[in-house]
Amino acid sequence: MEGKMKEAPAIGIDLGTTYSCVAVWNRNRIEIIPNDQGNRTTPSCVAFVDAERLIGDGAKNQVAMRPASTIFDAKRLIGRKFSDVKVQADMKLWPFKVIEGPDDTPKIVVTYKGEEKEFLAEEISSMILGKMKEIAEAYLGKVVKNAVITVPAYFNDSQRQATKDAGLIAGLNVIRMINEPTAAAIAYGLDNKSDINGKINVLIFDLGGGTFDVSLSTIEEGGIFEVKAVSGDTHLGGEDFDSRMVNHCVYEFNRKWKKDLSGNQRALGRLRSACEKAKRILSSTTQTSIELDCLHEGIDFSMRFTRAKFEELNMSLFDECIKTLETCLSDAKMEKSWVDEIILVGGSTRIPKVQNMLREFFDWKELSKSVNPDEAVAYGAAVMASKLSDDGDKSFQDVMLLDVTPLSLGVDLKGDEFSVVIPRNTRIPTKQEKEYVTTIDNQASTMIKVYQGERTRASQNHLLGEFRFSGIPLAPKGGIRFRDSFEIDENGILTVTSKIISTGKTEKLTISKANGRLSKEAIEKMVKDADKYKLEDQEFKKKVDAYNALEDCLYNMKIKFKEQDGKKKVPISSLKKIEKAIADTTKWLEENQGAPVVELKAKKVFLEFVCKPLI
Ligand code: ADP
Ligand code: MG
Repeated sequence: MEGKMKEAPAIGIDLGTTYSCVAVWNRNRIEIIPNDQGNRTTPSCVAFVDAERLIGDGAKNQVAMRPASTIFDAKRLIGRKFSDVKVQADMKLWPFKVIEGPDDTPKIVVTYKGEEKEFLAEEISSMILGKMKEIAEAYLGKVVKNAVITVPAYFNDSQRQATKDAGLIAGLNVIRMINEPTAAAIAYGLDNKSDINGKINVLIFDLGGGTFDVSLSTIEEGGIFEVKAVSGDTHLGGEDFDSRMVNHCVYEFNRKWKKDLSGNQRALGRLRSACEKAKRILSSTTQTSIELDCLHEGIDFSMRFTRAKFEELNMSLFDECIKTLETCLSDAKMEKSWVDEIILVGGSTRIPKVQNMLREFFDWKELSKSVNPDEAVAYGAAVMASKLSDDGDKSFQDVMLLDVTPLSLGVDLKGDEFSVVIPRNTRIPTKQEKEYVTTIDNQASTMIKVYQGERTRASQNHLLGEFRFSGIPLAPKGGIRFRDSFEIDENGILTVTSKIISTGKTEKLTISKANGRLSKEAIEKMVKDADKYKLEDQEFKKKVDAYNALEDCLYNMKIKFKEQDGKKKVPISSLKKIEKAIADTTKWLEENQGAPVVELKAKKVFLEFVCKPLI
């Protein structure tokens, strides 16, 4: 059957934590594709029911009945280790079971067709991607092969790789992965092409189901998009608003009936669905009611819910959003008055209070209403998909994306010094090279450690991976030159190659799944720490420099001493003194690795003084 169908154009998929959306360039415009229920977004949810697997609306609709076998939030697990503190914290909240698989990978356990089955997060995500593929195929009547998938801007290499793998498992050829805020900026940029003169600053405020992302981007006339700064909260979104409503209902139920339903999972599940529905209604009207028959111990539940109550319950969370927004602006070193456009993305930005607070923050500036908050990301992804396809629309050819690296990348040098090859906020894709030399005589092998971070001391950064370079030709210290090349591709994936310049021998490392894991919090923390420790790091750098200078001086003097020895140009008495000074300094250096800069400098001055006759 499939073989006879024609191939569809490449699609764009917004794979969200709570909802996903698919779009395509069709009939000369970008179309958001509705699913079989007529909905334009599909819950990122998979349920295992007896002998059946439900994905999307079907899965979400029965979540209250089978909480343990309904899987959601796979995006919070993807590309992470089981031991990750985030995973450990999330696990406590999930009604489904997660266990530790081989290599510290988390696995989701469900009973399916009477058997216990384990799934990787990639597999669950692949089922959702597969569903989005099917939705597009049903709509277009053609086979879908190629797709652009979006990921959060803060996703690290391993999360990106795992997302790409999920696409592969779903039978998709992932032609590109782009950042969610970039996709939203594209959607905005294309709709407002004629209004963009020169360069404008856009703030993308993405408040979704489980996460809050805020980013500052620039859009240039002619379609160049650049992400400048990202910030956010990985646990703040619509589900938290739902939880506050649920807690309030539980409290009210208890007050009225003197019965605690907080242990009744099924009742809680039903309440949660009802609260989410009520929340959506409260975005357009000022009051609604929640009615649930036989909620707990045969008691019917009925409650009026006002928008004011909803806002009161969630005010502290809304305040958090504004605080994070302030951080993003200060990170980007931007005044709020410099923001030209405020773009709302994510279902929760439909909440009137959120919009009001945002408007107030920006001194009552109007918010851009030109993009649909639920669909903008998929829209931008579809634009990118069309641009990248041969048969795509030509008007997208000039769309250009400029993404940046969130943290500096480099290698460790002798003395734990961090040598940056690609600085933070470099545009990607990029390739940068740096040369290094052997640090000891006859060095046969070296360990190359690749780090990500802002600290001067390599080991205080995040180790992405390491590889051994052996079989180095024997030569004196500094005699062999290496060229390390760091390459980040369009998807943000890093490859490190090290090459001996004289022989051409190379070794390579691709940062993939097994390593390279850094959460957004970790990135934020590292950037903050780097500022905090700047002074300490500067001290460390001075020490390393002084230590290396003394060691180099010592090494040179040793060579000069050997050359002089026997030639008798230097008086014997001086030679004796020199020999002693070299031996003493060597011993001192071995025993005083952590000596203060002044002492290191003094030793060098003394050594140079004694060795003067050699020079
Ligand atoms: P994500 O990208 O995080 O998966 P979305 O951006 O699709 O999520 O947003 C989903 C969230 O938006 C859900 O929590 C949903 O309840 C909420 N939401 C959707 N529509 C509305 C609305 N009209 N009012 C308030 N919240 C809404
Ligand atoms: Mg989203």
